[in-house]
Amino acid sequence: MKITFLGTGTSQGIPIIGSTHPVCLSDNPKDKRLRVSVLIEWSGYSYVIDCGPDFRQQMLNAKCTKLDSILFTHEHADHIMGLDDIRPFFFKQGAIDIYGHPRVFKALERCFDYIFETENKYPGAPSVNTHAITNAVFELNGINVMPIDGLHNKLQVYGYRFNDFAYLTDMKTVPDAEIEKLYNLDVLVVNALREAPHISHFNLEEALAFIDRVKPKRAYLTHISHLLGFHDEVQQNLPENVYLAYDNLEITI
Ligand SMILES: [Zn+2]
Repeated sequence: MKITFLGTGTSQGIPIIGSTHPVCLSDNPKDKRLRVSVLIEWSGYSYVIDCGPDFRQQMLNAKCTKLDSILFTHEHADHIMGLDDIRPFFFKQGAIDIYGHPRVFKALERCFDYIFETENKYPGAPSVNTHAITNAVFELNGINVMPIDGLHNKLQVYGYRFNDFAYLTDMKTVPDAEIEKLYNLDVLVVNALREAPHISHFNLEEALAFIDRVKPKRAYLTHISHLLGFHDEVQQNLPENVYLAYDNLEITI
């Protein structure tokens, strides 16, 4: 299984438009972060988790020529607003499979009504096949996917476990029963916004405490704000086997 970090930034991305913060002005490519998303590839299949406003650029960066499914974590704009750009995949492959909570599909219908139109649909509009998920394990082309149910302040959010890899973003609260589903991982990806506490995201301290409970072999931090600091400086102070993810980073599991 190959994982490509398509984006590792929080909702505004880094740099933020118009910002003069030193991290936003950094020349280090690792300090430039598109909105959060990850590409997962195995056995010739390609999946993305979330489809934010940078989706088009991310597909170009990753030279992705085929997309089998999109799994959504939740419906906030930084996770869904790239859906229109599935068109090149739709023209070649037909309707794209999307997975998520039914509530997420309602939000997508509000934002992209033309995608869900059933009568007199505009010829260039893409189509999707919706697959509503629950907390139950489901199968994706030979791999069992386990949803991990958490909270982003008060909003329900799904993380996903694929074999020995798990990806969680925008988590603030994860119940004990869900944490138990994350034992014995090779790689855990989890959100870490900044040092100061935040109402709906783990800060660095909470993310590290979470990693300490789950005890994966390796962990990568994502959904990062410019306020966390310069990539290279933050990385120096992380515990062993914990890494700050950066855009275009590839790992194999
Ligand atoms: Zn987000």
